Amino acid sequence: MKLEALAALFSLLTAANAHEGAFGRHAALAHKRQATTSATAAASSSSASGLSAATTAATPASSAAPSVTTLPTTGSDPAQTANNGIPALSEITSGMPTGTIWTASTTYTAGASPTALKGAPALPSAFVFSPTDWPPMDKIPPTDSPQVQEWMKELDGHDIPDIRPTLDNTCGGDPEAAAQAEERGWWTCGGWTDANDITVCPDKLTWGISFDDGPGPYTGLYLDEKDLAATFFVVGSRCIERPQLLVEEHMAGHEISVHTWSHHALTTMTNEQIVAELGWTRHAIQTILGVTPVTFRAPFGDIDNRVRAIANAMNLRSIIWTRYNGFAYDTNDWKVAGGVVSPTDQMATFDSILGNATLMDNGFIVLEHDLYEQTVDLAIGYTLPAAQSHSPAFTLKSIGECQNIPLTDMYLETTTNKTVAAKSSNSTTSSSTTTPKGAASTGSDSSASSFAIPALSAVFAAALGSSLLL
Ligand SMILES: [Zn+2]
Repeated sequence: MKLEALAALFSLLTAANAHEGAFGRHAALAHKRQATTSATAAASSSSASGLSAATTAATPASSAAPSVTTLPTTGSDPAQTANNGIPALSEITSGMPTGTIWTASTTYTAGASPTALKGAPALPSAFVFSPTDWPPMDKIPPTDSPQVQEWMKELDGHDIPDIRPTLDNTCGGDPEAAAQAEERGWWTCGGWTDANDITVCPDKLTWGISFDDGPGPYTGLYLDEKDLAATFFVVGSRCIERPQLLVEEHMAGHEISVHTWSHHALTTMTNEQIVAELGWTRHAIQTILGVTPVTFRAPFGDIDNRVRAIANAMNLRSIIWTRYNGFAYDTNDWKVAGGVVSPTDQMATFDSILGNATLMDNGFIVLEHDLYEQTVDLAIGYTLPAAQSHSPAFTLKSIGECQNIPLTDMYLETTTNKTVAAKSSNSTTSSSTTTPKGAASTGSDSSASSFAIPALSAVFAAALGSSLLL
């Protein structure tokens, strides 16, 4: 079952990535109709080699820009337009036609700045990917690079607990660590948190919206559809792959937060590796947007007191998703994309979350994703409308907004938080272009979009290998 699910996911992703192109929302919807043929062909051609593709796609990037193809924009499909262009719930499956890739509808130029972010630095010049500037995508970065060595200095003077890394990010995989979960503050086994962690919204019936793992090929559908601010927990490897989408998110007034470079479990890593994962992602965001987030979310929610201390030393505060009475606020949307949960079961889970949320005295944060087309469709077509039409009604905000944190205080460059600002003097990201050890100086890579595959395989394999949440 696990292998089947992975194969389905790889097929989905390979098909999706085969259609990287430029078009807007309406063209995207029209494309869904004709995508059946092309995407099916792509999926069938990729399904047999999905696993090998996942293995070989880890080849370091080249400087080649992703090819851009304008897709057909005519036609309509009644099934696709029944719900504002979103497929019927039952049709949102791992085998659904793909191809609705979205790219930036507006081209922001250097010097522009988001109106929602007071005092925001101007956008830097358009990001140009150079493989010598970055570690290999979707792999834990090497720790002997000058950049990581520089970022390690941020830990000086901070008390980093001497906790050995976990063997894996499961309770069963490391019984000794699991037995120490409370002492370790290990969220994975028992949901242990720190007072500084953001896990809820303070106001009752308020949902702090977030989307993880992007920017993805479908992120823009959400940006177009909803006049709602959200928090995007972005993966560094995805940022340099789709920098323009990151710019779109930022310029539209959404919050950007760190979600590591390669999306591996942080508690399994050495201190240096954790610094590298956070540092490179922070650096990617700062390079593309000119701002540096002061919050992060650990992949799988896998955080303990050592990870917290390192992140806090790097000016990054943890945001996870809500657990209430042992009930985790995970929509399981990613399992729909992986073919292991039906869309109706996913919505049943979400309905349970909403029902559970009405019992709390405070608001909540839910785990959702924007990397897969299915998860974006579920959010736009079903989970967000369900919350908005719920009785009692929920108020939807970004996580910073629900916390009453001004958008300016979500970034180092604009914060008025003196504690954060004071620490910034030695945490400004490096602009060095030195090639990190282990990074490729040359490459024969295909399009950058192929890098989505190993990242997702890692995410899904890790999640399927345990009973964990993402
Ligand atoms: Zn994630």
